[in-house]
Amino acid sequence: MSKLLLIAFSPAEAEAASGFAQSFGMPFDLLCLTGSAPAVGAEKATEANLEAIPPADGLGTALAAQSTEYSHVAAMSSMKAKDVLPRMAALLDAAMVSDVIATPAKNQYQRPYAAGAAIATVEVTSDKTVMTIRPAGFPQGEPNPNGSTEATSLDITSKAEVTQAAQASGGRPDLTQAKVVVSGGRPLKDAATFEELIGGLADHLGGAAGATRAAVDSGIASNELQVGQTGKIVAPDLYIAAGISGSTQHMAGIKDSKVIVAINTDGDAPIFESADFGLVMDLFDAIPELKSKL
Ligand SMILES: Cc1cc2nc3c(=O)[nH]c(=O)nc-3n(C[C@H](O)[C@H](O)[C@H](O)COP(=O)(O)OP(=O)(O)OC[C@H]3O[C@@H](n4cnc5c(N)ncnc54)[C@H](O)[C@@H]3O)c2cc1C
Repeated sequence: MSKLLLIAFSPAEAEAASGFAQSFGMPFDLLCLTGSAPAVGAEKATEANLEAIPPADGLGTALAAQSTEYSHVAAMSSMKAKDVLPRMAALLDAAMVSDVIATPAKNQYQRPYAAGAAIATVEVTSDKTVMTIRPAGFPQGEPNPNGSTEATSLDITSKAEVTQAAQASGGRPDLTQAKVVVSGGRPLKDAATFEELIGGLADHLGGAAGATRAAVDSGIASNELQVGQTGKIVAPDLYIAAGISGSTQHMAGIKDSKVIVAINTDGDAPIFESADFGLVMDLFDAIPELKSKL
């Protein structure tokens, strides 16, 4: 029987991916790994009540064991899902499709490739499909009561061990789920300036801070803030790019943003080709002025 299992690493992910699950065209169950399962219209919602997300090897094996009866398994595209779901696909002998943005026909999936410069339509011929999805491509989910909710305990045995976990974002929302993202590039000079200007504006707007790889490689911003092809994929309502040239690799991570605002001293910078609003201005003047006016 065709049935989808939606795996959510958090309740917020379940809500974000619910539009996909509701429009996918088959009944679905929800497995929420942490927190309470929100009302997204699942036939059955299961809560694993994990205190933290375990290493990918053990979690992938445990989740594969929970997924045997499903024809399709999906999770929202995230760094964690990208670690865990391909392991599940291998264990389930399933096809793996990453970063799905649309499902044009049965067994067909669209996904960006070449840093988002092209869209591939992938046809799956195997019985089982495991996928990560980018929710921005799907309709907004409607709150809907779940059929039933129960608790489950995952049997997780891992060869890896988490020795330390650090949260550098100072309580800011998760980049991949934030409604507002303020990102900074190479001109930010150092970590303190980045935190004052980019972090400060992000806090002002209740958003997350992001960075380019150039800023990360220069030690201006920490690694987990990198947005782009080899960083995080974001889909906020508002993306503010300050001192960012707009490389293909950076743009691959922000394509799904609803409104892009660029602040750059160079009026010919490629970022202006994709920006909805552009400010040709020095960010060291523009950001304090923006903050004072907001
Ligand atoms: C395989 C591969 C993967 C990559 N993955 C990623 C990725 O995931 N994410 C990513 O971001 N990059 C990635 N890159 C790097 C990417 O190619 C660019 O080098 C990088 O995005 C450039 O970052 P930047 O815009 O901060 O710096 P720059 O390209 O140096 O641009 C800085 C911009 O700031 C402007 N500027 C300068 N001073 C000011 C000022 N005072 N006020 C306002 N504007 C100012 C300049 O006009 C310029 O446009 C990848 C590269 C490769 C090869």
